[in-house]
Amino acid sequence: EEVDLILLTEVIVEELREQAEKKKIQISVFSDRDVKMMGNHTLLLRMMMNLVQNAISYGKEHGHIDILWKEQGDMIIGEVKDDGIGIAQEDIPKIWDRFYRVDKSRSRENGGTGLGLSMVHFIVAVHGGQIHVESKKGEGTSFIFQFPKM
Ligand code: ATP
Ligand code: MG
Repeated sequence: EEVDLILLTEVIVEELREQAEKKKIQISVFSDRDVKMMGNHTLLLRMMMNLVQNAISYGKEHGHIDILWKEQGDMIIGEVKDDGIGIAQEDIPKIWDRFYRVDKSRSRENGGTGLGLSMVHFIVAVHGGQIHVESKKGEGTSFIFQFPKM
């Protein structure tokens, strides 16, 4: 099915607005006018939900989250960027593992299971895409992904 990624992003931002407001986090979306791809709407929604939810959970009070979408040739490029707690270099390869959480005692307050990113990784793969993370502890984290349009 054809998935309108801008519309999907608006739905997620609306859904997470209250949660973001609690931490006074501002979410902005930057994108080309029309970004659409062939894919599974439910899975792509879940993927973006997980990434933006993480950005809020591991974001700082009064922080910012930027969501970017653009088309480049036959590829779609997306990014979810926060200015939160960041991830230490040595932990970055492990975050995709099922049940892995960087700081279990602190993360427990957020009530997660550690399954979110393994699901994200799976959903990207199902769509023939790729994802990587850039992060600096204490400065923030950016998840950058790309998909073939179809
Ligand atoms: P859940 O299953 O509820 O998503 P979770 O958020 O702990 O639980 P993942 O989403 O898989 O699990 O993330 C794994 C770990 O990676 C997190 O516990 C956190 O330590 C780290 N992490 C993920 N996203 C970010 C981010 N944006 N900034 C900093 N750390 C992050
Ligand atoms: Mg998560």
